Amino acid sequence: MRAVPALLLRNVSLWTPVDEGSARAGRAQGELFHARRGALFCRDGVISAAGEEADVVRALGGRRGGGSAAVEELDCGGRCLIPGFVDPHTHLCFAGSREAEFLQRLQGAEYLQILERGGGILSTVRAVRAASIEELYTQTRERALTCLRHGTTRMEIKSGYGLDTRTELKQLEVIRKIGAETPLAVSATFLGAHAVPEEYRGDAEGYVELLVTEMIPAVRSSGLAVFCDVFCEAGVFTVEQSRRILAAGAAAGMAAKLHADEVHDTGGARLAAELGAVSADHLRAAAEENLRALAAAGVVGVVLPATTYSLRKTHAPARRMVELGLPVAIATDCNPGSSFTQSMPFVLGLAVLELGLSPAEALTAATLNAAYAMGAAERGGSLTAGKDADFILLDGETPGCLAYKAGVPPISGVYRRGIRVAGGEVRG
Ligand SMILES: [Zn+2]
Repeated sequence: MRAVPALLLRNVSLWTPVDEGSARAGRAQGELFHARRGALFCRDGVISAAGEEADVVRALGGRRGGGSAAVEELDCGGRCLIPGFVDPHTHLCFAGSREAEFLQRLQGAEYLQILERGGGILSTVRAVRAASIEELYTQTRERALTCLRHGTTRMEIKSGYGLDTRTELKQLEVIRKIGAETPLAVSATFLGAHAVPEEYRGDAEGYVELLVTEMIPAVRSSGLAVFCDVFCEAGVFTVEQSRRILAAGAAAGMAAKLHADEVHDTGGARLAAELGAVSADHLRAAAEENLRALAAAGVVGVVLPATTYSLRKTHAPARRMVELGLPVAIATDCNPGSSFTQSMPFVLGLAVLELGLSPAEALTAATLNAAYAMGAAERGGSLTAGKDADFILLDGETPGCLAYKAGVPPISGVYRRGIRVAGGEVRG
């Protein structure tokens, strides 16, 4: 990434969750720091100071304009400044389309039925296996840049459409390249246990054996994944199989994430709590005692409202999770089957209007708690000195404008490490 001059944004209404070393839970999830007349100063891609404009300017003191690089100043005309969105659960790396399946679903076909017929995930697996690495990269890059235009500056991307060693590594290599060659900060998750591939139909145990003895060691040698994830669900992987896969992942240096209790309560959330996973995701069918166990274990609950919206299912009980003290994050779950959106503003709007989070709780869910849900809070998720200068300028009076102005994100600038990477011209 090219060198960044020092940048001072003045006259902003600055809103950010406060990072006190853990994800924000309960009442704290809805508490934001707000500077009515705020400013942010960054240098070399890192935030030096953020807060009330008078304090930031005073802290700058003689450093402004002095030294080797001049300071670029921008009067933002009172626009909102918020942290860049963090999207902690995506399946962005895929090929092919499942629009026809979407139309089938509109006519009443159930997701698990489609899966049993060899459709769903398995049709994407065939497309990803057939795609060259260049084709897969080009398609994934296009989607990633759309995320960026919608304010996402940091994201997790999962493998899981290869389901064989060679193709899973191909996906992980594409994901690495997205992080290296686009402005986005990217963390990779190995999701070889996304489904049982066709060649192991009826033999999930055999596939688990392959995962543990061949695929996970190969991923470890490649050094391409930070997390290991499992789709723990009735008809996919059992809790026992999930435990075995995640143990092998942990032994290979990959922290656990889990697709837990999306359709049925099979004990996935309980397993995530037992393992101290980084996150437990979906959770719409999780029992309340297991949500409490997640909270006690310090696991972040990731809810995926665009998925439940697209599948026309009841949403995860995010409001209740906040009441139970479970830190809630939100993510797009961008994938070709059940949630084809790259837009965190859309997901945030659903979180407010459908799940009953306040705009402040939803902003925390889309930034700081999302960063904790992907082990990246050291660098992102809040406007805190020392973190990457990743932020968004909004045309609105409060972060609530993201839910208020539905469908057309009121984003006038997206910055990653202090560089404007998307958004229109800002005039004072
Ligand atoms: Zn997922």
